[in-house]
This record gives sequence, C-alpha cells and structure tokens, in this order.
Amino acid sequence: MTFKAVRADKTDAGQDVRFVEMDESELMDGDVTVRVTHSTVNYKDGLALSGKSAIIRRFPMVLGIDLAGVVETSGHSGFSPGDEVILNGYGLSETHFGGYAEKARVKGDWLVKLPAGLTRAEAMAIGTAGYTAMLGVMAIERHGLTPASGPALVTGAAGGVGSTAISLLADKGWKVIASTGRASEADYLKGLGAAEIIERATLAAPGKPLGKEQWAAAVDSVGSTTLSNVLAQTRYGGAVAACGLAGGMDLPTTVAPFILRGVSLLGIDSVNCPMPVRLEAWRRLAAGLDRRKLAAMTQTIPFDEVFEAGRRILRGETRGRLVVTIG
Ligand code: NDP
Repeated sequence: MTFKAVRADKTDAGQDVRFVEMDESELMDGDVTVRVTHSTVNYKDGLALSGKSAIIRRFPMVLGIDLAGVVETSGHSGFSPGDEVILNGYGLSETHFGGYAEKARVKGDWLVKLPAGLTRAEAMAIGTAGYTAMLGVMAIERHGLTPASGPALVTGAAGGVGSTAISLLADKGWKVIASTGRASEADYLKGLGAAEIIERATLAAPGKPLGKEQWAAAVDSVGSTTLSNVLAQTRYGGAVAACGLAGGMDLPTTVAPFILRGVSLLGIDSVNCPMPVRLEAWRRLAAGLDRRKLAAMTQTIPFDEVFEAGRRILRGETRGRLVVTIG
C-alpha cells in the first residue's frame, strides 16, 4: 500500500520538493506508526516548501513540522493502536520525516496524547505556532509579570504565533497592543482581544538604544530591528519573548535596555522544548484557548494546496493558522 507525501530530494541544482507516492518500507526508524489525518502550514513549512532554505538537514526528507493522527502500531509502552496523538518539532522536516504524509513512523517519546477537549483538527489549528505562543506567554509569566505590570505587545500580530498570543494574553487580562503591517486586519485583531493596533513600520526602522517605556512584556515573531525597538521601548524590569524571525535573523541592539532598565530577553524554542514544559503548554491550550477565537483564526485547506499556502505564508499573506487535511 502506497501513500502520498511531500518529499524533498537533493539534486545537483539544489532541492526538488514535490508530491510523491511512498510505501511504509521507506519510513524512518521509530517505535510508533501513525495514520496522519491533519498537519499545518507554519512559516517554517513555507521555507521548507520553497526548496530554497536550509531547514532540511538530511535528504530525502518528508516535510511538515506538525502532525496529528491515530496510532496504527506501537512498540512504545505509552501508546496503543487507536490512540489520538499530536507531534510537533523534534526535528520533523529537518532530520526526521514529518507530517506531510499519510503515514509517519516516529519515536513514541516525542508524541503527545491528544489533550482532552481538543479535536485533532483543533490541535493542528493551534499547531507549532500556537504552542510557541503559549511557550512565550509561560516564559513571561515565569518572569513574574502579570497584567498589572503593564500592557503586552505582540508583533507579527496577524500571523499564527501572533494571533494565538493575542488571544491567550487578552483572555488572561492583559491589555494587548498588536503590531501589524496589515491595517485591514484591525477588526480581526480586535476580535481576538487586541486593545490597540500599531503600524509595524513604527518598529521596523532603526531606532534609538532607549525609547519611551511602553509595554511591560512582548511576544515577538519578527526579530531584527523590530525586536531591537521592542526591547528599547520595554518598561523597567519587563521581558520580551523572542519567538521568530519573520523580519530577519539579525538583532542590531545595544545593551542599554538590559543594563539600564533590567529588561530581559527570553528565548523561545519549540522544537526541543522538554516534554514536561510541552505537556504543560498543551494542557493550558486545551483548557484555556477560546475555541471561538481559534475558529476565527483558522483556515482549512486540502493537502493538494500546501505549496500555494507555503508561498502565501512567506509573502505574509496568510492570516492566523492554516490546517491541512491529510489522507
Ligand atoms: P506567520 O507568517 O503566520 O506570521 C508572521 C507574521 O509576521 C506575519 O503574519 C506578519 O504579520 C509579520 N511579518 C511577515 N513578514 C514580515 C516582515 N518582513 N517584517 C515584519 N513583520 C513581518 O508565521 P508564524 O506565526 O508561523 O511564525 C512566526 C515566526 O515565528 C516565524 O519566523 C517562525 O519561523 C517563528 N517560529 C519560531 C518557533 C520557535 O520554536 N522559536 C516556532 C514557531 C514559529 P502582520 O501582517 O500582522 O504584520
């Protein structure tokens, strides 16, 4: 029995990424085989689908950094046939075959049982982006900040990480300032809970080492000069969770926010995040993420449309989250 997958192969010209038919004998080692029903398109998937990025670290590679599905066979004591599971990170689409395939064979140690109260489709509507947003919120809370500390800024607001971060922070009582390049999305962002919208251009140009103190906390998906301006305008003792690089990988900052205002830069990694933190993030997402807002930020597409969706996410044209139905 063959199954459909998006696979990247190394060629003399670079990478060839396309739909192929595979069979189970081609799957990588692992102790659990999963029938994949849903995946997602994240920014990182867009990069991998483009065939031009360095996301993929071994070839051939099945793309897709997220998957949800049903266990078919298991040699792992924690999982049995019929269990509904989700998996994100742990090298999917980098070093291990990912979720853009009707079947996956993975390590049971990487799997999370579908949290009670979430469907597989909802878990993928959250996906890596939503779970990363929750990791950012948890890091800000661990730092001791609360809504009483002051407003929270979210950059890349209309994207996947940004949309989820707005919803989570607003529902926790934070006054959320949303930075977006798309004024047309103001109503959408307010519907998720943003109290104020700022134009992303105000944070994009190189700024002063220190600016007016504006927000106590921030979840940043953009990086580069945006992140340096976010740091420069963070209130005394505040913290910024750095999640992404949609605006660039560089960080042209000074030490001023750190040594003069005690600002902290909190690094967020979703891929190798330890399992206890991962489970806590998913537990909180299942318990606390407003399903009405999740539905408002989610679009579902068929498997055949992943390439087009990948191009759109790299152009900054997608809003919120993209779920892919597989199989
Ligand atoms: P999206 O494309 O959904 O969101 C990114 C948003 O950033 C866009 O919607 C847009 O928001 C804004 N944006 C896009 N291009 C630019 C630009 N050139 N300058 C400034 N803003 C820009 O991606 P995701 O939410 O899936 O991911 C966001 C970032 O987080 C990515 O860089 C991704 O790689 C990273 N990431 C990191 C993870 C980790 O483990 N640390 C895990 C998941 C994601 P708007 O139109 O509102 O301005």
